[in-house]
Amino acid sequence: MTDPITHLIHHPYRAPDGFEAPQPGIFKASTVFFPSVAAMRSREWKNKSAYTYGLHGTPTSYALEERIATLEGGTECLLVPSGLAALGLVAMSLLKSGDEVLLPDNAYSPNKAIVEGELAGWGITHQYYDPMDPEDLEAQISSRTKLVWLEAAGSVTLEFPHLVEMVRICQRRRVLTALDNTWGAGLAFCPFDLVPGSATPLGVDISAHALTKYPSGGGDVLMGSVVTRNPGLHLKLMLTHMRFGIGVGMNDVESVLRSLPSMALRYRAHDEATRSLAVWAQTQAEFVQVLHPALPESPGHHHWMALTGGEVGTAAGLFSVIIDSRFPQARTDAFCDALNLFKLGYSWGGPISLVVPYELESMRSAWPQHLLRGTLVRFSIGLEAVQDLQADLEQALLALR
Ligand SMILES: *Cc1c(COP(=O)(O)O)cnc(C)c1O
Repeated sequence: MTDPITHLIHHPYRAPDGFEAPQPGIFKASTVFFPSVAAMRSREWKNKSAYTYGLHGTPTSYALEERIATLEGGTECLLVPSGLAALGLVAMSLLKSGDEVLLPDNAYSPNKAIVEGELAGWGITHQYYDPMDPEDLEAQISSRTKLVWLEAAGSVTLEFPHLVEMVRICQRRRVLTALDNTWGAGLAFCPFDLVPGSATPLGVDISAHALTKYPSGGGDVLMGSVVTRNPGLHLKLMLTHMRFGIGVGMNDVESVLRSLPSMALRYRAHDEATRSLAVWAQTQAEFVQVLHPALPESPGHHHWMALTGGEVGTAAGLFSVIIDSRFPQARTDAFCDALNLFKLGYSWGGPISLVVPYELESMRSAWPQHLLRGTLVRFSIGLEAVQDLQADLEQALLALR
């Protein structure tokens, strides 16, 4: 007779197969069982044909990888514990001592911290290019350039670059391109495909995405992805991913799977509310400039239009304002503090609207020519009723005046 305590571990009951429900199950593991030594020796996880160890994937993570690859128009996907880890994985996998990497001057600041704080110590150099000037990008490419980062729209200042031209330059110069696709999220434009209505391929090599933002949509999960269409490149990234052991937790994967079905609807709702508030912000005298790619006055508006399919287009739920420099810092801080529905906090893509005042001088090589002077404040628009958000901004403006 087997002792009942052993049965608590090795119970003979097997639930029947064939369970199907709206959400795929959560399969969690470090250990994965093999039916035989032969299976242990022969199983292959790299092509997702079997399971070998939790870090290399379970049915849950395979499912999310496939969905994110499809969302972005890619074929291969790796999951990592944060969007920042996705940027780090691309760098660690593709750059070696003596190489150079180029980043737009409006790159996500922590990506600049990777190149300045980590890669520099490994003998990998970097340069920042003007995101609004493809010629400047081209001029900085040398025989040592092995990777060019692209970002659309740019971090915080939301300039929309001439992505098609920049990718074309990199392809001609045979340099790999990696796009931080968090803003577009696979919904505003396709990083791998043809540009709508034209024969111009965008065709980046790698798309990195902070799933923390719209795919999670809850403000409660950190995750990142790295998508490609090139099996050789994917394998290279996958081996680095494996060697460093940067896997994800399956409860987090399940949260993202749970949120994906509503992602397109949420993105559209964030977009609509954001544009309405950005247009309103343009009528406020305290804001000398409003930055959102759908506004004709915003830098790179026509590039956004070309890439996202014309007048209607699609955009993420972010806009920034530049507050007139006649207001001292204490007043702009008071404006942010006076907001009630908007919370002070980093990240975006969740249901709650957020605000962050930035010290742009410390984030750019020089003050961008296309920006007026003043204090930059970025809003991320949640899913609250837009008239309530506008009323909140209106009452907080009283604290600024
Ligand atoms: C948030 C963000 C990241 C990093 O994502 P985390 O999951 O917070 O590490 C990277 N790039 C962009 C553009 C982001 O907005």
